[in-house]
Amino acid sequence: MKLIVDNTLAPQQNRLEILNFPVDLIKMDEAVCFVENKIANRKFCHVVTINPEMIMNGRKNIELGNILKQADLIVPDGIGVIIALKYYGIKNIPRLPGIELSLNLLKKCSEKKYKIGFLGAQKDVMEEACNNIKSKYPGVEIVFKQDGYFTEKDESVIIEEIIKAQPQILFVALGVPKQELFINRHKNLLSFATMIGVGGSFDVWAEKVKRAPVFFRKFGLEWLYRTIKQPARFKRIFPVLPVFLIKVLLHKLSMRKDKKDD
Ligand code: UDP
Repeated sequence: MKLIVDNTLAPQQNRLEILNFPVDLIKMDEAVCFVENKIANRKFCHVVTINPEMIMNGRKNIELGNILKQADLIVPDGIGVIIALKYYGIKNIPRLPGIELSLNLLKKCSEKKYKIGFLGAQKDVMEEACNNIKSKYPGVEIVFKQDGYFTEKDESVIIEEIIKAQPQILFVALGVPKQELFINRHKNLLSFATMIGVGGSFDVWAEKVKRAPVFFRKFGLEWLYRTIKQPARFKRIFPVLPVFLIKVLLHKLSMRKDKKDD
């Protein structure tokens, strides 16, 4: 793992690498402040909320891997990332769940009247999520909304509509890797917006899926709760986490050996 000093990031940030994937060691208030600055100034910003599944996917899918590596802010979402950091002796970094970062950003958007867009999920889910967010944060100005089941042919019309609506932040809920590929594909035309891939968050905001109870969240077992509730996720998640942790361990051991050999 390397420590990278990157002056384009918020000054209080440290950027580290796990298996060659950057992760920003940043607290929630710092992340909100960093992103808000981009939103307020209508600057492009791609926020990634990284977890072991994304890193392992990014190792296989070079296009996804490069997109993840080039994001402007990469926060440690998955518990596996936090465990990996512990392997490297970094102990006091809390998880920064994407869904919580998004809610904090929505609160800011409501207070400051920033324009927001919602893209993704089934139409009824997306509508319900918008309604619930509007009642929770009455000040939010949703200037664009679109479900996530469109064809390639529809994409250019959707992009034109986003350009017309000019949201300052676009929440993209298409799942991984679709959302990251979408953001990357359109980042030049949508360079006025911050974009964050939020996976299944609309389903939670629409109350179609329950977020894990506090007990599971406190012990970093949100993934276990989701797997119990949606057993189809087991195949997707289960082999990934142990394989990821073994790879990180082996990488750490090889680094130690290299140091000794020097
Ligand atoms: N989704 C979508 N379009 C697609 C595929 C998926 O809008 O073509 C949505 C899906 O309805 C769900 C979200 O993307 O709301 C993905 O949720 P998932 O729980 O798989 O994401 P995760 O949080 O695990 O990344």
